[in-house]
Amino acid sequence: GEALAVSARVAPLGSRLVLLLVEDLTEARRIEAVRRDFVANVSHELKTPTGALSLLSEAVMDASDDPEAVERFAGRMQIEATRLTNLVQELIDLSRVQNDDPLEDAEPVRVDELVAEAIDRCRQQAGSKQITMAAGGTAELRVWGNRGQLAAALGNLVENAVNYSPARTRVGIAARRVAVSGGNEIEIAVTDQGIGISEKDRERVFERFYRVDPARSRATGGTGLGLAIVKHVAASHGGEVTVWSSEGQGSTFTLRLPEAGAARDRDRTSGGPL
Ligand code: ADP
Repeated sequence: GEALAVSARVAPLGSRLVLLLVEDLTEARRIEAVRRDFVANVSHELKTPTGALSLLSEAVMDASDDPEAVERFAGRMQIEATRLTNLVQELIDLSRVQNDDPLEDAEPVRVDELVAEAIDRCRQQAGSKQITMAAGGTAELRVWGNRGQLAAALGNLVENAVNYSPARTRVGIAARRVAVSGGNEIEIAVTDQGIGISEKDRERVFERFYRVDPARSRATGGTGLGLAIVKHVAASHGGEVTVWSSEGQGSTFTLRLPEAGAARDRDRTSGGPL
């Protein structure tokens, strides 16, 4: 009687263990598939500009007695070379945010400085499209984190807002403090009046190399890595990035980050080994 009772207690435990093992294997397989996809994607993305460069250099050689054609081909070579440089830079940025612990050299970072830097980065492109950029609510606010990574994240959001908006529209950046349990958070929202993102694409735009319209993304120098970098930076800072959008009307990307506060900073900096 007792043996039966024991085995009845053990059996469900055993099947749960098997289930855990199966789930583990499935997860390992999923991670392996993601890694393979990533390598395949990188190879494909590198092939486009390198292939074009090699064809264009042949074209230059064949056209050596036609200076106008040479100039035209050289111009296109420059575009492809820039594309290649952007891609390599974004891959370096992505691997950096994935491998470095951003909180190792975390500090209080002023939101108005981050916003000014992001706006600066896009000033030329926004100017050529007559896009107005306006920021509000940033005074006095400070987030806690790695300055370089936070600047890259916000810069990417503002860059996208400008990239995916028609001429003579407005890009707004608004920051505010939100009280949550266990300390305040800072919300930075980047709003555009651009093309918007459909519901089905909204779930996927944070994936590496996912683009709604690959041709449009490439034309603006996009790599499809920007939002993956933003998502990673947000998560590793204990925050989150979310998107709201209405197709044809515009999008709002909201970055939520921990606020830098005296108590919190003391807690964190004294958190190391004693
Ligand atoms: P990309 O280098 O292509 O801009 P991202 O990872 O930054 O790569 O964005 C992924 C895709 O999400 C873009 O290709 C674009 O289709 C879409 N997207 C991102 N931001 C916006 C936005 N503000 N408005 C509309 N679409 C956007």
